[in-house]
Amino acid sequence: MKNYRIALDGPSGAGKSTIAKRLSAELGFVYVDTGAMYRTIGLFCLKNNIDVNDEDKVCSVLEQIKIELKYVEGEQRILLNGTDVSKEIRMNEVSMAASKVSAYKGVRSYLLNAQRDVAKSQSVIMDGRDIGTVVLPDAEIKIFIVGDATVRAKRRHNELLEKGQNISFQEVLEDIITRDHNDTNRAESPLRQADDAILLDTTYKNFEQAYNSVLEIVKSKML
Ligand code: C5P
Repeated sequence: MKNYRIALDGPSGAGKSTIAKRLSAELGFVYVDTGAMYRTIGLFCLKNNIDVNDEDKVCSVLEQIKIELKYVEGEQRILLNGTDVSKEIRMNEVSMAASKVSAYKGVRSYLLNAQRDVAKSQSVIMDGRDIGTVVLPDAEIKIFIVGDATVRAKRRHNELLEKGQNISFQEVLEDIITRDHNDTNRAESPLRQADDAILLDTTYKNFEQAYNSVLEIVKSKML
């Protein structure tokens, strides 16, 4: 069978990762969460007291960071220098660190080859900000998922509460707005809809509806 690459891009909280996980199980494709890779670099900096605002310093420690992706029962696990950090990278302070370090050219090129490599020999669903524009510009299927910031913040807030993190809605909303701004306005691979990506707005859709819309697009492209 031909290999397919599905690029799912958009701002945080639009529903990309939940949709991608279910779709990967349904289609038997490998799910690659590229945000987790930026989060892992952010986590390394936080743990080692590296100022995430200092681009030169962050780029100088990249060679000390070994990131591995593993798949356990279809779920992506991410290892930082051999330790599974899949849970830790979801902490809210890591989101902001990831947002900062992801603006650096050195960081982006460090992760680019690893991201392209996973897609070389297998069908993948890759979610991120620049998959359709930079990482896999030739992807067969590209979907750009957007949604109102307040609705996205509500979803993210619920997720964090479910994980036991004590955080206010206002804080999550402010973080989302700041991260949207950072992602959209950075010079390197900004968040942007690829010319050939299909736009999907999930503001007024629940998960089931958003998932079905994605599935419909995917099926129409795979025929
Ligand atoms: O998707 P997630 O929110 O986990 O990503 C964490 C951060 O990593 C984002 O705020 C974004 O700044 C960055 N990111 C990126 N490019 C990607 C994926 C994530 O810049 N392809």
